[in-house]
Amino acid sequence: RGTSAEREVPFAQPGSLTRVYAVASGKGGVGKSSVTVNLAAAMAADGLKVGVVDADIYGHSVPRMLGADGRPTQVENMIMPPSAHGVKVISIGMFTPGNAPVVWRGPMLHRALQQFLADVYWGDLDVLLLDLPPGTGDIAISVAQLVPNAEILVVTTPQQAAAEVAERAGSIAVQTHQKIVGVVENMSGLPCPHCDEMVDVFGSGGGQRVAEGLTRTTGANVPVLGSIPIDVRLREGGDEGKPVVLSDPDSPAGSALRAIAGKL
Ligand code: ADP
Repeated sequence: RGTSAEREVPFAQPGSLTRVYAVASGKGGVGKSSVTVNLAAAMAADGLKVGVVDADIYGHSVPRMLGADGRPTQVENMIMPPSAHGVKVISIGMFTPGNAPVVWRGPMLHRALQQFLADVYWGDLDVLLLDLPPGTGDIAISVAQLVPNAEILVVTTPQQAAAEVAERAGSIAVQTHQKIVGVVENMSGLPCPHCDEMVDVFGSGGGQRVAEGLTRTTGANVPVLGSIPIDVRLREGGDEGKPVVLSDPDSPAGSALRAIAGKL
C-alpha cells in the first residue's frame, strides 16, 4: 500500500461516507477534549462506527479521558488503533515513553497528523472526530489541507473573552472553505446544589454570540447545537476514563451531550 507520504487520506476521497468533524476552540481549557470524547462515546453507544484522532499533539489528553490504555499495534505497514467504549482512538501519547513532552516544530505536526489519518487502519467509519489544539495554528491548517471536507465544530464557554477568541478560531473556515457545523457552549452555568438556581460562573450568551458572529462572517447559518452545564460528573468521568454520557447519561451534562451527538 506504499508509504504514508504517498498514501492518500481515505476520508478526503470523493465518495467517502465518513463524516469528519474537527472540534476547535479559541482558548484551551474550555472543554474541547471533554466534548470530543463524550460525543464520540455517545455516537458509538448509538451504534455508529466512530474514531477519534487526538490532533492536540502538544496537549494530548484524549486516551485518558476515554480510558483507552491500550497500545497501537502494527499489522503489515498499517497501525491498528486501540479502542475504548467502542471508539477507535489514536494519540501521539501512545508513542511517547511515559509522560514525555512532545517538543516538535510545526512541520513535524503535519507529518504526524498525516500518519494518523493515512497510516492508521480505521476501517469503515461513520464518524471521525478530530480533537484540535486551541487556536488557528499549524494543525488547523493541516487539517484543512488533508481533510478539506472536515466540518468545524466550535466549543466555547459563555464568557465574552472566550467567545471572541472562539469566533476567530471558527472564522478560519472562510479561508479554508470549510463548513462550520455549529457551536457548543460548555460550562454554561452551575446548577446550585442547595437550591434550584443556576450560577452563571462564566457569564452567559457566549455560544449565541459566536454562532451569530460566524453566521455573519461565513454567510452560512451556524447554529448553537447545545449548552452543557458545569457538572462534577463530567469532570470525574474524564478523570476516570468513563465519559459521563455512559457513566451517567441522564445527568445534566450527560443528557446535553447526548442531545448534541444526536444532531451530528
Ligand atoms: P480543553 O480540551 O478545551 O483544553 P478539557 O476538555 O481538557 O478542555 O477540559 C478542561 C477541564 O475542565 C477538565 O478538567 C475537564 O474535566 C473540565 N471540564 C470541562 N467541561 C466541564 C463541565 N461542563 N463541567 C465540569 N468540568 C468540566
